[in-house]
Amino acid sequence: MDSSKFRIRFAPSPTGPLHIGGVRTALYNYLFAKKTGGKFIIRIEDTDQNRYVEGAEDYIMSSLKWLGLFPDEGPGIGGDYGPYRQSERKHLYAQYAEELVSKGHAYYAFDSAEDLDKMRTEQETLGNHSAKYDSNTRVSMKNSLTVSGKELADLIQNSENKVIRLKIPNDETIVFSDMVRDEVSFQSNLLDDKVILKGDGMPTYHLANIIDDHLMEITHVIRGEEWLSSTAHHILLYRFFGWEAPVFTHLPLLLKPTGKGKLSKRDGAKFGFPVFPMAWNEGEETYAGFKEDGYDPDALLNFLVLLGWHPADDQEIMNLDQMAAAFSLEAIVKSGARFDIDKALWFNQQYIMSYENSVILYRMSSFLPESITNNFDEAYLLSVIELMKQRIQKYSDFVGEALFFFKSPDAYDEKQVRKRYNDELATELKLIRSKLSMLEEFTAENLSDTVKGYLSDNSLKMGAYLPVIRIIMCGAMTGPDLFEIMKVLGKEEVLRRWDVALNNFSSYLS
Ligand code: GLU
Repeated sequence: MDSSKFRIRFAPSPTGPLHIGGVRTALYNYLFAKKTGGKFIIRIEDTDQNRYVEGAEDYIMSSLKWLGLFPDEGPGIGGDYGPYRQSERKHLYAQYAEELVSKGHAYYAFDSAEDLDKMRTEQETLGNHSAKYDSNTRVSMKNSLTVSGKELADLIQNSENKVIRLKIPNDETIVFSDMVRDEVSFQSNLLDDKVILKGDGMPTYHLANIIDDHLMEITHVIRGEEWLSSTAHHILLYRFFGWEAPVFTHLPLLLKPTGKGKLSKRDGAKFGFPVFPMAWNEGEETYAGFKEDGYDPDALLNFLVLLGWHPADDQEIMNLDQMAAAFSLEAIVKSGARFDIDKALWFNQQYIMSYENSVILYRMSSFLPESITNNFDEAYLLSVIELMKQRIQKYSDFVGEALFFFKSPDAYDEKQVRKRYNDELATELKLIRSKLSMLEEFTAENLSDTVKGYLSDNSLKMGAYLPVIRIIMCGAMTGPDLFEIMKVLGKEEVLRRWDVALNNFSSYLS
């Protein structure tokens, strides 16, 4: 098939926020679509009303938007295969389930919750600990295989427990190929007769997923490993309908930072990093988001793409276009990928360092308080960014790290001042100040020449003076190049800080 005809979908259920593993799934779907010239489609799988969570769909769509994973078709976007929300396709599914009943591949079942419990307990007493609705047990349950005639007609009309179940064939090995795992096989006797249509006429995930993948002409299914065992059911459904199945790719798990066990939504709080793209409130609890935590969306994607896939040349830093160009399903690995937040931070820092200052300013604008944006102009902010961009890992670090550019120190590193300040420094620093006050062009070079020139002309030690000047400017012995800082602060502010500090330091003189 011409690859521009490929149709690839990301099919989240709005049962909560999109986990970072879901973001990786969306990314791989997106990349494969871009790589092949196919279409990237979003389908919202919202048939399970009990698990539906208000706001989750918006959250999913906004997260994809923040990350720049724009779909070609989807809810709110349109396309020829809509609607793209399964709840709006409800009318489509029942006829397909009934078609399977009439072909003998599915059947009505009318068992109550108590009947099902009873069956499980009975099986357990017989030593069957994995009891399920299957060829073994269906014969003793209330369904259209065991009931007939008028009773059946009545039950179909009136039973409040009516569902349609898939009839799994006996003693079969169901084989399918997966891009990551090659040939996968499941013994049919281990599969249960899954409900495919519920009493309210709503399909379950399995039925809706297959019908929509077929009707939407999906060619490739790329999803998490947790769906691997359901695929056996899906293969049967395709066969029963006489439809061609798409190509399957099941992605490896994302593992906890320890490498043991699947990364879960609680791990975020436990290990102190976000596991959701954006913050999410659930009752009293708020789950942190990469966005609010100060991550760059492109850096996050770059970090995620390498959790389970590597380009042939092992290049690490890649933008979306480069990732798409290098992407291939064949190179996805089988083993789980350890979620290492230090690596995410490293990518974030690399991205921030590589950006133009104006891009950084734009991307971190939500982290700048009004006290800064109202009082400092863009040119000033850009020069601070120029000095600080090597020193921040996240956008959220900026204000804290660069605070001395926006606020003169309200405290000084007292220990250092006591250790370093003395009468001689007090006298010399006043003289240096007067030299600085005479400087016409406050460039880093002029500042350096003036200060260092004065120190060497007077045989004074750099190591004694420069740290104290730094404390005068920043309050502590931190920050980028001292003379660059002074240049950005400007003459008036430098002289003001000088006076305030010397005045403060005088109390440390004996
Ligand atoms: N709705 C399923 C989910 O939430 C989709 C699985 C699939 O892609 O088939 O992950």
